[in-house]
Amino acid sequence: MAGIYVHVPFCTQRCTYCDFYFTTTRHNFGAFVQALEAEIEVYGQEFGGKEPIETLYFGGGTPSLLPLDELARIMAAVECHFDTSAICEVTLEMNPEEAKPPYLRGLRDLGITRLSLGVQSFFDEDLRFMNRAHDAAQAEAAVEAVGRVFETFSVDLIFGLPDQPFEYWGANLEKAIRLGAPHFSTYSLTVEERTPLAKQVSRGLVEPAGDEAMRELFLFTMEYLTDRGYDHYEVCSFAKEGQRSLHNQAYWRHRNYLGFGPSAHSFWKTTHSVAHRWSNVRNVNRYNALLQQHELPLDEREALKPDMLADEYLLLGLRLMQEGLDLNRLETDYGVDLLTEKRTALADLERNGLLTLRNNRVLLTREGAVVADAVALKLAE
Ligand code: SF4
Repeated sequence: MAGIYVHVPFCTQRCTYCDFYFTTTRHNFGAFVQALEAEIEVYGQEFGGKEPIETLYFGGGTPSLLPLDELARIMAAVECHFDTSAICEVTLEMNPEEAKPPYLRGLRDLGITRLSLGVQSFFDEDLRFMNRAHDAAQAEAAVEAVGRVFETFSVDLIFGLPDQPFEYWGANLEKAIRLGAPHFSTYSLTVEERTPLAKQVSRGLVEPAGDEAMRELFLFTMEYLTDRGYDHYEVCSFAKEGQRSLHNQAYWRHRNYLGFGPSAHSFWKTTHSVAHRWSNVRNVNRYNALLQQHELPLDEREALKPDMLADEYLLLGLRLMQEGLDLNRLETDYGVDLLTEKRTALADLERNGLLTLRNNRVLLTREGAVVADAVALKLAE
């Protein structure tokens, strides 16, 4: 079973922290969808018969800017060129300002089964700081509106804003729970290169929250949400029963996926030792033009060597807080005997309270989740 990701590269304005590819100036939906249909057809010829599609995910950018008829065209193209008979989840990322009841009902009628709602905060000053296009009242109204139409949805929130009082974060979680959020994706504010936030930081206008503040916020999040019945199933993800993101779980389980649209990434493993990763150009005009000329909009493509594949599986598998990293699979599929090869590193990390070993699996502790990437790098290096 494989997944499909569709990158919709349009936004109304630029959030200061964002380093995804998007454009705020040209919203030529028709030309973009036509190019997307062509790309889906080409890859369908190569991959359509290989594995059925289990999940479809519209990310961005802001896919909720797409009119319903354009979304319908994309979904029809996927259905036409891939085996979608076993599809069980179709997610769309939505910004609160687009969560209007007729649009929400239209999405549901099209076959969208899950929304990921980019709330980020319920405080106007936070939203202004991040240059989000919505305000706090719209955020609250959106969660309510989405909950009236969709049973399965996520509320995305960001913590660790500079000068944000600690209480604001607790209040954000509390409000989302009160509004009925069945799933949370919680992210710390990171300063990515070439973003407006990075410029603010380099000019001394903004001082990012420190590591210790971030650690406390994250530990608080894990305790607060698990105490209220949310299953901490991935480092940044918390879900009530039956609400986990199947699409994202497939990434972390190292399953195959195809990415369509500008800047989208794909990963396809043919055997345990033969796999490729590739990405598309990060420019919608170039993307459209290449597909019009019947060329693939490729930016980079690489064959993954067995040791790269093993490291990738390790980095991803460790993120699964309940399942952990499966050492049997790491050895049988990727030829790495971690218990032998990394005995000292594993013992050090366990002694420092960052992971536990159970049933031949490596599981991050909460302290380990705070520094998940560093733990993974120590085991992969
Ligand atoms: S809406 Fe999303 S994709 Fe667009 S700029 Fe903001 S964070 Fe980035």
